[in-house]
Amino acid sequence: MTRATAAGAPVDPGHAGGARPALSTIGERDLAGLLRELGQPSWRARQLREATWHPYVGGFEEIRQLPGGLRVELDHRLRFSKAAVTSERVADAGQTLKLLCALDGPQTVETVAMESPARGASGRRATVCVSTQVGCAVGCPFCATGRMGLRRSCTPAEVVDQVRLAGQALFRHALGPVTHVVYMGMGEPLAAYETTLASLRVLVAAGGISPRRITVSTSGVVPGIRRLSTEGLPVTLAVSLHAASDELRNRLVPLNRAHPLDGLVAAAGAYARATGRRLSLEWCLIGGVNDGLDQAAGLVAIARRLGAHVNVIPMNRIVGSPWGPPAAAVGRAFMRHLTGAGVTVTVRDTRGGEAEAACGQLRAALEPRRQLRPDGTLTPQRPVRRGASIRG
Ligand code: SAH
Ligand code: SF4
Repeated sequence: MTRATAAGAPVDPGHAGGARPALSTIGERDLAGLLRELGQPSWRARQLREATWHPYVGGFEEIRQLPGGLRVELDHRLRFSKAAVTSERVADAGQTLKLLCALDGPQTVETVAMESPARGASGRRATVCVSTQVGCAVGCPFCATGRMGLRRSCTPAEVVDQVRLAGQALFRHALGPVTHVVYMGMGEPLAAYETTLASLRVLVAAGGISPRRITVSTSGVVPGIRRLSTEGLPVTLAVSLHAASDELRNRLVPLNRAHPLDGLVAAAGAYARATGRRLSLEWCLIGGVNDGLDQAAGLVAIARRLGAHVNVIPMNRIVGSPWGPPAAAVGRAFMRHLTGAGVTVTVRDTRGGEAEAACGQLRAALEPRRQLRPDGTLTPQRPVRRGASIRG
């Protein structure tokens, strides 16, 4: 699906029939060569790269700085976007935008953009949750995407363009700009390693998003974790643990049979040491399945060993599964066990959003975070300041 440039970064050659390469991921040399061929000065490359990231530019024809003839010519030679929004749903009183993105070809993926309050000067953050695959081969039984099986991986451009399109959608709603990206949508990012790596590099270099504001979530592809730790990209790694014993994890995350807990915890620890980034452990809390105090104790041991933060996500119900979140008291007891042992925990609150939870994990990834107090109660959800600091 991808080929490597001399610099080793995969580029997107486009799909069937030698289709036009994507503007967002075309290599520097290829873009420079194309512009030379079109009789353009070399600084056009930079102009084009910048225009790609303007939240109000949806195609070459809208890049007003370019001569009209060049806009038409570029449109023949390049694809401005390898994805297109086909539907948009607004949730959480206008704070969450759930997009269906048509890829290059017949497939679609979900992309979510969400604005939430944050500490710091601007007091807000806008997070985009991207999909890296159409479906997923890992097959976790509580996950709607896992039930689809794997159809194909996205190309790097399709991932980058989800971020751009989400930025445009936020802008239309007077939200944004994008400050954070999480690889927590459909698919297993480290099973689509080249796509994940190439898209990360573009988001950092051209999109201007700091690696520290990017999170890659993995179900535990150990070779991928080891490789990512050598790339010089200190993104946050979130490990979807969900179980603290191999016996249970083999059932909840079937990949565990190939990469059991010991090796996973070792690889995650090595990642944290190599990148200096604090790890996150994700725990989809399923009533009667992984909500017992034995599992909580195992999670405490792993979190302490890794110095990791824990995100508890009460399970979003999915069609065809009898599982769901535990009773509130059970969930509270589980979390009190963690906080009591000194582990830092956040809960992703999914209340109020169930109707929008067609793909459980996308919602789960982006629900506004509420802190768990030591007494087991949740901090209130802070209101979002809307319309503030919109960059043009
Ligand atoms: N494949 C990667 C990234 C996508 S899933 C991974 O598994 O980490 C993002 C997060 O949502 C994961 O922690 C995943 O386990 C969780 N998730 C999936 N389905 C869920 C559901 N129905 N309810 C709550 N969390 C879910
Ligand atoms: Fe794949 Fe992640 Fe869903 Fe498991 S939870 S099936 S790894 S997308």
